Amino acid sequence: MAEKLDVYRHYSCEDDYADLDMGAACERLAHALACKTVYTTPKDTDFSEFERLQAHLKQSFPRIMAAGTFELVGHSVLITVPGTEPALDAVQLIAHQDVVPVVPGTEDQWEHDAFAGHIDDEWVWGRGALDIKDMLMAELEATEYLLARGEKPRRTIYLAFGEDEEVTSKGATALAAEMARRGMRSAFLVDEGTTTMFDGAAYGAPGAVVSDICLSQKGYLNLRLTARGQGGHSSNPFGGTSLERLCRAVALLAENKPAPTLTPLVAGTFKELAPQISEEPFASLVADVDANAREIADAAAQVRELYPFVCTTVAVDQVIGSSAAANVMPGDVSAVVNFRLLPGVHAMDVQHEVADLLAGLGIEVTIDHSTPAGRMDTVEGAGYAELKEALEHFHPGVTWVPSFVCGGTDSVRYEDVCGSIMRVCPFRPAPEEEARGVHGVNERISRRTYAQGIRVLIRLLERTAFSELF
Ligand SMILES: [Zn+2]
Repeated sequence: MAEKLDVYRHYSCEDDYADLDMGAACERLAHALACKTVYTTPKDTDFSEFERLQAHLKQSFPRIMAAGTFELVGHSVLITVPGTEPALDAVQLIAHQDVVPVVPGTEDQWEHDAFAGHIDDEWVWGRGALDIKDMLMAELEATEYLLARGEKPRRTIYLAFGEDEEVTSKGATALAAEMARRGMRSAFLVDEGTTTMFDGAAYGAPGAVVSDICLSQKGYLNLRLTARGQGGHSSNPFGGTSLERLCRAVALLAENKPAPTLTPLVAGTFKELAPQISEEPFASLVADVDANAREIADAAAQVRELYPFVCTTVAVDQVIGSSAAANVMPGDVSAVVNFRLLPGVHAMDVQHEVADLLAGLGIEVTIDHSTPAGRMDTVEGAGYAELKEALEHFHPGVTWVPSFVCGGTDSVRYEDVCGSIMRVCPFRPAPEEEARGVHGVNERISRRTYAQGIRVLIRLLERTAFSELF
């Protein structure tokens, strides 16, 4: 068993910005967590909770409100703090206002009510403490802190907070469309993304403490395979039933999953980690990552943690329409297959490939729902070096690698208005806090972790939006 990772061993410079009033910042976060901004559907959502949160923001950050504008697009928030050089592309920080509900049946496991805004000497508790009101509030805290120094940003700062990231991302889509309509552009954007440190063992680098800066995200596709059937008595199933054809199709699909592929981003992960990779097969292969891309992808596909990073995954999750009786043949039956698309893979291409594979089986292949994979940005993109520097400054001894997120985030909606999109939370909580709290029970953030994340964002803004050099 690997030793438990003590993230605080990788915290430093905690006395930077000594005049930052962390007690007050934690109180403001607790207040934000007490707003029950659970988004379900437009009809069933209690938007008064969103209005409470928005009123709290307006009241808590007087300098931002005085210097900038606070607008609503639907129930999503767009704050603009104008820069002294409006011709320059802006700096954009985003997050989402909504949180997931408490999982029914787990209410009793919460030490403090998920929406009480409970706070003690060590922790700020509540749904959204890690996903992602911590980031929303920290972005505002960092901006407010710098404005309080009496400086004006050189580049405009946009703060954009969608209303429904956990459900449909319509809020972020509307925000991005509004920005495009007005010709608003950002040099870079920071959004939620991976947030923990982890041991590099999966990459053959045991003992290396790793964290990632995500420059893309996987796409999402629900593909429906349908076999038509007439039903009828099963005493003469001449030619086979619809369910039989569907099963054959599923089996064929399972045997022909997309081959492992090393995207430029995961190649970048291996390149950055190469000096610390000591175990085979990766130790030899990373001597030349590009030449050995195929072998690295194949080897990574054998490791549970790395598998989703090198494969468009295929999960057969639902079968619909089987017969209610054992002696009656089914009518139309279908299976829904959930694909998570590697960056660079398109839903329509997958649909066509699956249709070709299943040709002759009498299966219709249709797209139920899809979200495209993110654009692949690069480590040369605007803001990457500055963000990495800020993270390294406050978290020494961590190797920061480029990667992508396997889930979805709002940021993919902003590709048309942003030069470079980075998905990285500024916080580094303990991995077990992250694993238990996000969408789980007893979600909380330590005061120490929250403070350190605010410092990361202050330093990032100092060296970008507020800098003459960026
Ligand atoms: Zn989130």
